[in-house]
Amino acid sequence: KKLTSSEFRQMFLDFFKQHGHMVLPSQSLIPQDDPTLLWINSGVATMKKYFDGSVVPKNHRITSSQKSIRTNDIENVGKTARHQTFFEMLGNFSVGDYFKKEAITWAWEFLTSPDWLDLDQEKLYCTVYPKDTEAQKIWLEVGMPEDHIVKLEENFWDIGEGPCGPDSEIFYDRGQENNDVAEDDPENFPGGENARYLEIWNIVFSQYNHLANGKYVDQPHKNIDTGMGLERVLSILQDAPTNFETDLFLPIIHETEKMTAAKKYGTNKADTTAFKIIADHVRTVSFAIADGALPSNTGRGYVLRRLIRRADLNGQRLGIKGAFLYKLVPVVGKIMESHYPEVTEQKDFIAKVIKNEEERFQLTLESGLTLLDDLIASAQKSEDKTITGKDAFKLFDTYGFPYELTFETAQDAGLKVDQKGFDAEMAAQKERARKARGNLQSMSSQDETLMNLKDKSEFEYGVYEEKHAKLVD
Ligand code: ATP
Ligand code: MG
Ligand code: MG
Ligand code: MG
Repeated sequence: KKLTSSEFRQMFLDFFKQHGHMVLPSQSLIPQDDPTLLWINSGVATMKKYFDGSVVPKNHRITSSQKSIRTNDIENVGKTARHQTFFEMLGNFSVGDYFKKEAITWAWEFLTSPDWLDLDQEKLYCTVYPKDTEAQKIWLEVGMPEDHIVKLEENFWDIGEGPCGPDSEIFYDRGQENNDVAEDDPENFPGGENARYLEIWNIVFSQYNHLANGKYVDQPHKNIDTGMGLERVLSILQDAPTNFETDLFLPIIHETEKMTAAKKYGTNKADTTAFKIIADHVRTVSFAIADGALPSNTGRGYVLRRLIRRADLNGQRLGIKGAFLYKLVPVVGKIMESHYPEVTEQKDFIAKVIKNEEERFQLTLESGLTLLDDLIASAQKSEDKTITGKDAFKLFDTYGFPYELTFETAQDAGLKVDQKGFDAEMAAQKERARKARGNLQSMSSQDETLMNLKDKSEFEYGVYEEKHAKLVD
């Protein structure tokens, strides 16, 4: 079935609405009252209050399409077919209502019924926890071929004390021709690290309570939480080799192509990866800023800074001159506005914030990149294939290259970076700054220029925030 992203998203929500679920809007990417989490990284992350009983939902069946950010996948972006830093997770949730039988039956119905996605049953596989014979039985009953049910020890969701239980994941076979491992490779199975079997949906059966004494007891109220990657399923529906050749990304990529001299997406691997990274990162930063995050030197803000700088570095690699990422914001807004109006509504503000951040980095990007490429070339000739901590720190301190940016670029070239050495340089600089500040205070000096000189990064941050405050009003 050929569906657009909006049609598919709506179809998922409609399906579960028909099965008695209330449709909740996506929550902010910034966790509310949850200090354990930097970003909302899944649908269930917004449902904690229902699952722990602190809030009773109006309807115990809930469905949503949740904006999610996963920074642990930054390095996968552009390398795998299936990872972004920002993605939408479609989910259905049962707060002590239905359990395994309904969850599996509905998942199967949604995926295979001609009224819904109508996917080829022969291409679907699932993984189950080996001891979870109940789930295995239900899968067989709904029609999953027996040899498509794979038992995997890892299929148990457990994060220490608290609710936990087995899970079952659904995979789509993209065919051996789309595989990145050989036919006889031990990873060539659903759940293995390969491109052939695409993980599309995770169904968690939260049925036990993991006690402090290590025992597992039955939960009085069993919960279902599921997460389906919207872009992954869309890639199947739109017959796209990766998530990026879908209607969610192609308009961004085409707009980026226009900004290059004559680069085309798909002509070579390095350029194609750069286009993907830019398209991914601009979505992430646009939505994060729409939800109230701002670039800075710590926490969420630092993630945004990293993403914007990494996008700009890739733009530079494609030969784009100057700040450009901000120009893609309206494109992101347009693609998403039918379900998420927030980027379009705030597009000028978001673009301003991104442009501001880009312009600061653009001042040093070209020379920084030349230095980085020189460092890479000489490290490749060296014996230990490592960029020194001192050099990485210079890139950070003088050219504004976040450590991770240097690290990732080095890694792509098969090199290491001396992180301990970098940390030592950083600590030494902080110490110098602290001393300088101490001296200043003891002289009760208010000389801002001098402060600025001695404690550059922290002070810059302050100035940036001040500028930003002016942007708001
Ligand atoms: P993978 O093994 O592919 O990294 P995961 O097991 O980490 O995925 P889950 O935590 O089970 O993913 O999340 C539920 C679903 O969300 C996945 O089955 C997938 O469809 C989708 N998903 C997870 N991470 C990403 C991502 N970085 N980009 C796009 N979709 C994702
Ligand atoms: Mg993952
Ligand atoms: Mg997985
Ligand atoms: Mg999973």
